[in-house]
Amino acid sequence: MESQESDICAPDEMEMMLGDPSVPDLMNDPLLVDWSGVEIPTSDPPFVNPTGPLPARTEFTGVHLFDAKVDMTGQQKKLYYMSTKLNKIFVDLGKVVPIQIKWDGTANLYVRALMMFTQPDQWKNPVKRCVTHRDKEDPTNKSYDHSDHVLAMENEGAEYYIDPLSKRHSVKVQLHLQSGCEYALVSLKFMCKTSCTGGLNRAPTDVVFTLEDAQGTVLGRQVIGVKICSCPKRDKEKDEQNLAEPSNGKRKVKVKREEKQSSAEEPPLKRVKQEFPTDAAPVSFMVTAVNAEVAKLFKENAFHWNQVKMVELCTPGAIPTPLISVTDDIAVLPQPYN
Ligand SMILES: [Zn+2]
Repeated sequence: MESQESDICAPDEMEMMLGDPSVPDLMNDPLLVDWSGVEIPTSDPPFVNPTGPLPARTEFTGVHLFDAKVDMTGQQKKLYYMSTKLNKIFVDLGKVVPIQIKWDGTANLYVRALMMFTQPDQWKNPVKRCVTHRDKEDPTNKSYDHSDHVLAMENEGAEYYIDPLSKRHSVKVQLHLQSGCEYALVSLKFMCKTSCTGGLNRAPTDVVFTLEDAQGTVLGRQVIGVKICSCPKRDKEKDEQNLAEPSNGKRKVKVKREEKQSSAEEPPLKRVKQEFPTDAAPVSFMVTAVNAEVAKLFKENAFHWNQVKMVELCTPGAIPTPLISVTDDIAVLPQPYN
């Protein structure tokens, strides 16, 4: 698209308003967008600390075809439940949940498991054990040496970490593919309940699985929700029912809007992945500001929109749409959702 000169603004005025043309991508201009503290996940990511202040949550398989899922084979008596609808494990405190770790079998790779709160406003808080369960005298710590960690891994060679800066707790183990197996198994145990006061405090949590090399470079990521409770079967059924019959105001609005579009026979809530088009190609618009005030407003709007996009990029299941980019007189806007 060719640049057009505004018939309202003098070229030098336009330059002043929309930035230095020698910097074609203003999204990289630190004056326009403050990227500090925001991790930008990409399909081929640079080094990012998987246990840092804001660990990325975007799922990707990467070149090693990484995948992590709950092993449902050979369960004699059901001690844990997996809801595929909610992508969430339901399990009682201290019960083993085997996780199948799939990758291409490359040697010298590790899998790390880290618990994170699900809600964005709690992402900054590390998940810690409650005072009662942290107590070394507590019966749950009889044969458990890592009493600070909610997440335990029973595998031989598992190493426990506490990030010195973020205080996040994680556990990782080197991966070995046994002959004839398509995956390695890691055995996780959760040593606090979701309801523990001063610990998880009833807040929903996720386990973030990262495939890493020896230097800690993240090569793949998967996220699975977890609820630790006394009656996992009952809670799974209840939570799945809540998904179908939402009770909070926000979801009701969403259902109403969707009911208008679809027949009453269809389920009222759709998965996030289905709500976003996968082929959200950028659409280019020429933008000409009528005055300095409008140009300033436009840049501010682009900034806020991109902040929203960053949250979306960090949300498991959401397919990210492109960011707005602004050159000296052209803005590339993402295609609207509908
Ligand atoms: Zn606890």
